Parts: sequence; C-alpha cells; structure tokens
Amino acid sequence: MSAPPKKKTLPTKINIFGRDILVRREEMKEGEFGEYEQHKYLIKISKRSDINEARQTLFHEAIHAALHISGLSMVLPDNDGIDLEEAIVVCLENAFGHLIDVDKFKLDK
Ligand SMILES: [Zn+2]
Repeated sequence: MSAPPKKKTLPTKINIFGRDILVRREEMKEGEFGEYEQHKYLIKISKRSDINEARQTLFHEAIHAALHISGLSMVLPDNDGIDLEEAIVVCLENAFGHLIDVDKFKLDK
C-alpha cells in the first residue's frame, strides 16, 4: 500500500506547541523563500516557489517558530556574523525534511 498523494496546497494554519500560526503565500524578493514573523505568529511563503519548495520552506519556517515559541531562540546568539538559530534550523531541515508531511501540522481540515 503506497502513501496517499500529497496535496498541491499548503495548510493555511498550523499548530506548534499549542499556538496557532497562520501560513500565507506572499510576493517576496527573488532568492527569498519564506519568513517567520515572530510578533504576528505568521509564516510567509514565497508565491514564486512551487509546491515542493513551498513545503520545504514551511518546514524550515516551522522550526524557526518552534524555537521562538519554546523560548530557545532567545538564548541563541546572533552576533559576529554567526547565526546559530539558522544553523540549527538548516540542520534539522536537511536531516529530517524528507520525512515530514507538513499537512500533519495543520489545523484546517
Ligand atoms: Zn531560516
């Protein structure tokens, strides 16, 4: 039995540590794939990205959101050109991204 085909859309709302986070496709500059806005609990995903790239970006930004909501991002230094948070996010994205189904993050059915 094979896995059901993945949807062609992204969830519009996900939940991390009990917190609702909105997900929106937006126009972004070339080379920008996504952004997590902490003060709005909002993940923005570039409209330029195809669905596979958008799903990967959603996972990446969801890790940023988890670090923020857990409070861990507050203790990660970001100075001298070393962005430890981004390094952790990229590590988790590359290690586990292929195993993740972002549809399982969603609240909207
Ligand atoms: Zn990042």
